[in-house]
Amino acid sequence: MAEKKQKYYYLVIGNWKMNPTTLREAKGIYRDVKKNAGRWSGIRVVTAPPATYLAPLADYKSPANFELGGQNCFFEESGSHTGEISYAMLKDLGCRWVILGHSERRAQGEDSATVARKAGAVLSAGLRPVICVGEEKRDAEGEYLAELENQILASVKGVKEADLPRVVIAYEPVWAIGRKDNRALSGESVLEMNIFIKRSLSRKYSRKKAMSVEVLYGGSVTADNTREIVESGQVNGLLVGRQSLEPVAFAQILDLVKQVKDS
Ligand code: PEP
Repeated sequence: MAEKKQKYYYLVIGNWKMNPTTLREAKGIYRDVKKNAGRWSGIRVVTAPPATYLAPLADYKSPANFELGGQNCFFEESGSHTGEISYAMLKDLGCRWVILGHSERRAQGEDSATVARKAGAVLSAGLRPVICVGEEKRDAEGEYLAELENQILASVKGVKEADLPRVVIAYEPVWAIGRKDNRALSGESVLEMNIFIKRSLSRKYSRKKAMSVEVLYGGSVTADNTREIVESGQVNGLLVGRQSLEPVAFAQILDLVKQVKDS
């Protein structure tokens, strides 16, 4: 599918995870977010609902900056893979984006080699992989940085230099995801990690390509920390979990990203 001509400055993805429980609620959330879409020109708003809701949500007429994404996919197009959903099936439903290697999937055993295989399949189908990376915890010696670099490079193994501009890296420190106190990383730390990710990629790819990779931040994003993360962290957007299920809160986050864009 050809990329849309409109210029986009930011990418904000709502990862609904395994929520909500009913299609009725899913339609309600999607409609409530979408009704304000006109306010967010220049921002790609991607909704990644549970796979069972993709087809009914795809039926809605959506503005050009509203797109659907998968939360995962399998690396084969079709075949004997019980319980899996292929990248080709997501593409057929109009998905343009696929989240891969979310920490909740990695916690269930998905390794970086599998993520890389999926990323290759997604790219070959013309879709865009959103590869999640992030350390589980930090240590005073900075060992986590070496582990993170290994995770990043293993997750893009096999991705050709020419395809790198279509890869999105979502940096999600696992310890910052789903926090009750909603404490995200400071903007300054996000910037450090943004640079670190690009430097890690430059070990494999040309500096120019590595430095221009789109990096998102995810982990307890709310309207209270959006501006700081996007502005000071200099990220290309956000991966939002819980707040993407709250249309009012999600709209506030998108309004703030739009303010940063227009400032
Ligand atoms: C996530 O799990 O991808 C996430 C960012 O969740 P939350 O925003 O709820 O921390």
